Amino acid sequence: MNQIKRRESLEVKVGDVTIGGGAPVVVQSMTNTDTADIDDTVKQVAELADAGSELVRITVNNKEAAAAVPYIREKLDKINVDVPLVGDFHYNGHVLLTQFPECAESLSKFRINPGNTGTRGRDKNFCTIVEQAVKYDKPVRIGVNWGSLDQQLLAEKMDANNELPEPKSSKEVMMDTILDSAMRSSALAQEVGLSEDKIIISCKMSGVQDLVEIYTRMATLCNHPLHLGLTEAGMGMKGIVASSAALSILLQQGIGDTIRVSLTPQPGGDRAEEVRVCQQVLQSLGIRNFIPQVTACPGCGRTKSTYFQELADEIQGYIREMMPIWRNIYPGVEDMHVAVMGCVVNGPGESKHADIGISLPGTFEEPKAPVYVDGEHRVTLSGDHIGREFRKMMDDYIVNRFGRNGNGG
Ligand code: SF4
Repeated sequence: MNQIKRRESLEVKVGDVTIGGGAPVVVQSMTNTDTADIDDTVKQVAELADAGSELVRITVNNKEAAAAVPYIREKLDKINVDVPLVGDFHYNGHVLLTQFPECAESLSKFRINPGNTGTRGRDKNFCTIVEQAVKYDKPVRIGVNWGSLDQQLLAEKMDANNELPEPKSSKEVMMDTILDSAMRSSALAQEVGLSEDKIIISCKMSGVQDLVEIYTRMATLCNHPLHLGLTEAGMGMKGIVASSAALSILLQQGIGDTIRVSLTPQPGGDRAEEVRVCQQVLQSLGIRNFIPQVTACPGCGRTKSTYFQELADEIQGYIREMMPIWRNIYPGVEDMHVAVMGCVVNGPGESKHADIGISLPGTFEEPKAPVYVDGEHRVTLSGDHIGREFRKMMDDYIVNRFGRNGNGG
């Protein structure tokens, strides 16, 4: 694994999950179900956890949602899904957490947006939420978001800026206010009695360069663990690329203790996509492995038909499908490297570097597919069942290497 020097931060426990203090970067996600719909929410939390989400946030936006939370926790426990739940509170968190103590108890962390705790009772409401965190021994994330920035604080900052002989731009004042809002809230929470090792901070923005700037500055201002994420990243490729770019720059600098990718799914799309993107960012940077890596060449004019793409897709899909099972019985399997290559130009070379690799026949090549295991040519497959035979070889390799009686090499 890559030896990136991580920013030093306090260790915060969220249920059984450790964030910060040098712990592996934690992947988290958020449901988009109506929390009051217990069965729907349990199903999606389980799917996210199954995909590898180590924390799952649920919105707690009204009394029905708050009342549902303990039942969601109970049902998850019954099906052995022990992922910690984080409650997302805006506007009425002080009311809900006070009126629904079982909700407070069932959650493993509260997320508070200091810009959304009320206009007149801002600090009072914020402190009420923190009091509940202290009472139930829960950590909080102080989650500042530029789209819902504390307007009172921003106005004060703007007024003060206007008095300066050389005023800053409004963008600079806004950036300063985001940082101040986070630090001010952290200080206030500690005044109420929350210990500093119960606080995680995020300062989310929707522009990549803005996000990099704000976190680079925040990293020097405190030693709280930082939750990274580009807010409102968007749909599909735009959201994935923008999030990956932003997170990668920061993670490479050692900044970030937990990450979330806020993708907008297609209607009826798979919410767990955001978990897989987080994992792939960390895996591509060499920070953490989650799933065997498949190296596939892009294909070119030398590849025959779509067979090679289909096989690469089949292998990736098979690995993803099997991973929830493999993860438990074959520890270390996530470090495996598989190559699926399109022809003899780079095929054998890349396959030799992988733990197991196959080089398919390109156009005008003999219809044969040499398979390499641990760098050695093991067998040459041909005929109509190359995919199935290669999958079987991969299964055998995993059992032998990562099974209880394997060599664990
Ligand atoms: S390995 Fe062969 S098929 Fe794949 S991109 Fe390179 S030349 Fe093209």
